[in-house]
Formats: sequence, C-alpha cells, structure tokens
Amino acid sequence: MRPIAVIGAGQAGLQLALGLQHHGYQVTLVTDRTPEQVESGQVMSTQALFHDACETERQLDLNFWDGLCHSIEGIAFSVPHPELPGHKAMSFEARLDHPAYSIDQRVKFAHWQRTFAGRGGAVVTEQADVNTAERLSDTHDLVLVATGKGDLGRIFERDASRSPYDAPQRHLALAYLQNVRPRSGHSAVTFNLIPGAGEVFLLPGLTRTAQGAWLPYENVLIEAVPGGPLDVFRDIQDPADQLQRMLALMAAFVPWDYDRVKDAQLTDVMGTLVGQVTPQVRRPVATLPSGRPVLGLGDAVVVNDPLTGQGAGSAARASAVYLERILWQRDRPFDRSWMQDTFEDYWGYAQYVTQWTNALLGPPPPHVLGVLDAAQRHPSLAHAFVNGFNHPPEFFPWLTSPHEAAAFMARHGVAALATQT
Ligand SMILES: Cc1cc2nc3c(=O)[nH]c(=O)nc-3n(C[C@H](O)[C@H](O)[C@H](O)COP(=O)(O)OP(=O)(O)OC[C@H]3O[C@@H](n4cnc5c(N)ncnc54)[C@H](O)[C@@H]3O)c2cc1C
Repeated sequence: MRPIAVIGAGQAGLQLALGLQHHGYQVTLVTDRTPEQVESGQVMSTQALFHDACETERQLDLNFWDGLCHSIEGIAFSVPHPELPGHKAMSFEARLDHPAYSIDQRVKFAHWQRTFAGRGGAVVTEQADVNTAERLSDTHDLVLVATGKGDLGRIFERDASRSPYDAPQRHLALAYLQNVRPRSGHSAVTFNLIPGAGEVFLLPGLTRTAQGAWLPYENVLIEAVPGGPLDVFRDIQDPADQLQRMLALMAAFVPWDYDRVKDAQLTDVMGTLVGQVTPQVRRPVATLPSGRPVLGLGDAVVVNDPLTGQGAGSAARASAVYLERILWQRDRPFDRSWMQDTFEDYWGYAQYVTQWTNALLGPPPPHVLGVLDAAQRHPSLAHAFVNGFNHPPEFFPWLTSPHEAAAFMARHGVAALATQT
C-alpha cells in the first residue's frame, strides 16, 4: 500500500493516521511529543465531541472511552441579567438527541499514539519543520500537515476571503476541576453568554490521574472579550492564582455555576491553560522548496475560536473526509488539484462551523436574539437550537437572515402561537 506521512499527532493527525493504518496504508506519523510527554503535559482543550464526530471515531473503533466517560446529555444556555446580579435575563435548556463526550485529550492522544505504534505504525518523534516535510516527501506519496496551531501551519497562506478576523477575539482561561457539584437535572454543557464581556462554560469530562485512576472532572472555560471585565488573566502568577481569579469572576457573573465549583480543586498541576486563538482559514496546499505540494488538515488550516466547541469535532470530520478521498484515489496521484478538491469537500461542511462561530464572537443581531428569546418558551425551538451544535449547517440559513429566522421559528410553532395571543 502507498506510503503516507502525517505530521502532528492530535485529533486530526492521529485519527487519519489510524484510519489509513486500518485500511492497510504504510503510515509514518511525526510528532513533537511522546505519549508520556502528552500525558504529563498541560491541558489543551475542553474537547466536547458531539455525536456525529464521535461516530467518525467509532467507525474506526477508536472510541475506547465510551463506557467510561460520563455523557453530556444536553446544553443549558443562560444570559445573566445586566442590572439584577444573581438573576438571569434569559435561559433555556434542551437535551441532545445523542450524548456528547469530553475525554481529556492528554489521555486520548497518548493512547491513540500508543495504539498506532502497537499496530506497527512508524512514529518519528521530532519538532517537524519544512525540512522534515521535504525529507518525508522524498519517500512518501502524500505528506499531510496536522500540527494544529503550531508554527509549521504558517507554511499555508492565510485566506483573507475566508478569514474576517486577523486578531484574537477572546482571551481564554481554562481549568480542569474536581469536586464540582453536578448540575441538577441532566448533565450538560452550561453556556453563559455575558453581553459585551464574554462567555463562561462548564462541561463534564474524564481524565486520568498520574496513578492511572479514572477521574471525572469539570471543564471550566472563561472566554473574555479583550479589555472587558472578564479579561483578568494576563499577569497570572501560577495555576492557583488562575483558579482564584476564575472563581471570583464566576461568583460575580454566574453565581448559579459558582455554587457548583466553589469547593473545587484542580485535577492536577497541569490542569490550567491561558491563551488566545486567532480564527482563520488558510489555503490548504503549500509548496515545499522542491516544488512538491503538501496538504493541511485540521486546525493547521481551519481554526475557529473555541466558543462553539467545534474544533476537535471539525478535525475529526476533516480526517474522515480526507480518509475517504484517499481511499477513492487508489493509485492515482495525490496532486495539487486532488488536494484542493479534498479540502473543498471538507470546507462544504466547515464553512458553516466557521461562519456560525465567527458570528457568535460579535453581538447577536435582533433576529438571533429573537430565536434565543423564543426558545425559552418553545421547547421544540430550544431542542432544534441545541442539536445544531451536533451539525452546525442546521443553523443556516436562519442565522444570517431575519426572514429565514421567522420561518425557522414558525416551523417550531412560534409564529402560530404569537398570532393566537
Ligand atoms: C480552550 C480550548 C477549548 C476547546 N474546546 C473544544 C471543545 O469543547 N470541543 C471541540 O471540538 N474543540 C475544542 N477546542 C478545539 C480543539 O481542541 C482543536 O480544534 C483540535 O484539537 C484540533 O485538532 P488538530 O489535530 O488540528 O490539532 P491539535 O489537536 O492541536 O494537534 C496538533 C498536534 O501537532 C503537534 N505538533 C505541533 N507542532 C508540531 C511540529 N512542528 N512537529 C510535530 N508535531 C507538532 C502538537 O503537539 C499536537 O499534538 C478547544 C480549544 C481550546 C484552546
């Protein structure tokens, strides 16, 4: 079978490498970290994976944690009242048709990397650069770059026509907490939208202690509008300081969730992260000094703000699309036009994730506020909104059109009820 090289062992690179291996390809995986370094390293994500993305893993038997990981059964959406502290101006919740899951990427990536090596895959541990890609292209029919937000992704030119932002729109603070009180009712991603300030998210996940015991925990992510009242993490001293600042913000802005976390501790000393993401889309094909093309995959070419919890799911989706197209290609060349078409196949889906996520980074227009407001009183509308997280194309066309938003609400009985009253 044809030799293929994948640079980057995250959600996208590992899933594709394991998928190709499953189909008999001879795969070389290049990673900058051993499984042990990943396991003992810093947390990377809240990694909520919705159903369709989970299915792409299940098709390859990569769902090792299905029976262990607590399911995320729904999404609860709240807007704190701007003038009445401790009260909500808006809130609704609904169940997902199929649960989502969050397994600590440190656990997942380390295990997937060991699985790949255990099945005979070649793993090269090095900080890859253009010379690495060049070397691999001498001996492999196809070289893919899946290095996430790492520097190597800069070989792909930014596509300004698909990238409305050129700077981070949020400053992020993430903590993995244990001893968090479960929310009442079903488990959920709790999504607090604080107009002008940012967002606060909580969602349950599963990690593993250094001693190897499974540990359910809660991801807490604060997304701060730069310069706003949540943006207090630039000069943090250490993880304990970060946690104290996060708890203070939660007490002030989302006391209903603060009550759940006030007695919590970090899962481990590496259980915090601060950072920022510039949302951008890059051109998927880069040219090496030799003139050979390489293809970008995952966050290396499409990175969105984590606000909508879609990056890992999109990376899973991308790897599934790329796998299918590689299989279809059989012995035909992986040339530039095949690479471009492969990406465009994925972009047919990813464009909606990007457009939706970018839209949520700005103030919601009146027709979107109208849908959110009506969702409080119409469970069918709340259900449709919540389940859109599993398949973001469903937010269109209503997200961008007041007329379509009215039609969307009418389909869920809103207009009919409004005319009766
Ligand atoms: C705070 C936060 C919260 C998030 N929450 C969610 C969420 O709830 N749901 C969701 O779906 N997504 C979420 N995401 C996004 C998600 O984690 C990423 O989009 C996803 O992991 C991207 O997969 P990837 O394989 O493209 O990149 P990554 O998973 O980042 O993997 C890239 C890999 O490449 C390696 N690498 C980098 N440079 C090199 C190099 N030069 N040589 C060799 N290897 C290299 C890295 O070590 C890494 O292992 C979140 C992100 C953040 C920051």
